[in-house]
Amino acid sequence: MFIELVDALRCPRPHEESWLVVSAERLVARHILEGTLGCPVCMAEYAIHDGVVDFSAGARQLVAASVPPSAEQAMRLAAFLGLDDAQGFATLMGAWGAHAIELRGMVDCPIMLIDPPADVDAAPGLSIIRTAGPLPLAAGSTRGLAIDLPDLHGDHAERVASAVRATRAKGRVVGPASLPIPAELHELARDEQHWVAEREAARSPLVTLKRRDQGSD
Ligand SMILES: [Zn+2]
Repeated sequence: MFIELVDALRCPRPHEESWLVVSAERLVARHILEGTLGCPVCMAEYAIHDGVVDFSAGARQLVAASVPPSAEQAMRLAAFLGLDDAQGFATLMGAWGAHAIELRGMVDCPIMLIDPPADVDAAPGLSIIRTAGPLPLAAGSTRGLAIDLPDLHGDHAERVASAVRATRAKGRVVGPASLPIPAELHELARDEQHWVAEREAARSPLVTLKRRDQGSD
C-alpha cells in the first residue's frame, strides 16, 4: 500500500466516513509492506501483509479470475480513464488488475487494485486491497475507476454505488456493458463489452470540502 494513498482509505463499516490510522512495521520505497490500519471510530483493525490491505474481516474474499496481461487492454484502460497526467490515482476492480503492471508502465499516477487476480502482487505504484464488500475509499477520491464484477449472480448494488461515490467529479468510470450505467454517471462511449462514462459534478459542496480537507474532519 502506497503510503500516500492511505489518506484515501476509509473504514468500510456502517458509520460516518472515517480516515484510518496507519501503523507501518515495514516500509519500502514509501510502500507499506507490513502493518495495520486502525479505525478511530469503531476500533476495527485491518492488516497489511505483503503490501496488501485486507478489509474482508474474515469474510470470503473475492479474487478475480486470472487473465493474461495485455498491453492492448492496458492502453485501452489508460485512454478510457483519461490517465494522461500524474495527478491523483486510478482504481481497477477485479480482473482489470491483470493489466496493472502494463498500465503502470504507461501512466504516471499510482494505481489502486481492488480484489485483483491472485497472481497480481503489490509493487511500486500498485496498491492492493482485498474486500468482499463496498470499496473502502473516500468519496471523490479516485480520478478514474474501472468496474469489474467477478460474481455476476450476486447483488452488486452496494459495491457499484461505493465505486461511483469514490470517483471524483468529472472522473471517468468504465463498466461492463451488462451493467446499467448508474444515475450519477453519463455515458461518453460504448462498445459491445464496455461503457465509458463521466461522473457528474458533485451535487453537495460538502463532499468537495471534505475531500480537500482530509484529516481535519
Ligand atoms: Zn470503523
